[in-house]
Amino acid sequence: MVLKIDHIGIAVNSIEDSLKFYENVLGLKSAGTEVVAEQKVRVAFLPTGDSEVELLEATAEDSPIAKYIAKNGEGVQHIAYRVENIEAAIAEMKAQGMRMIDETPRYGAGGAKIAFCHPKSTGGVLVELCQRD
Ligand code: ZN
Repeated sequence: MVLKIDHIGIAVNSIEDSLKFYENVLGLKSAGTEVVAEQKVRVAFLPTGDSEVELLEATAEDSPIAKYIAKNGEGVQHIAYRVENIEAAIAEMKAQGMRMIDETPRYGAGGAKIAFCHPKSTGGVLVELCQRD
């Protein structure tokens, strides 16, 4: 069901501050930023070979990213797997007894269709399914 790792989502306090490491030290290049209003985040994409690093910055105090950082500090927040058909992937996850946070796909940054699976079902990792057309 999984084609590849699409991206790794990293919660940061400030995209600008974080880019000093990702761009100046690692030599990655931000391909731009986007605000995803529904999730109250600003996202920067850094293509890394066949995958991407996704930096996530909260745009409001009640953003899931603000809550994540308050609890865990900055760091890896989710792993996103590219799937060919997200509706089929969600159905398969549910059939296997996985607890989905999103039972129907929603809008993700970059125009992707995404759905999150609860970390309780995945050994502690917040898993995102991601379909790009
Ligand atoms: Zn993501």
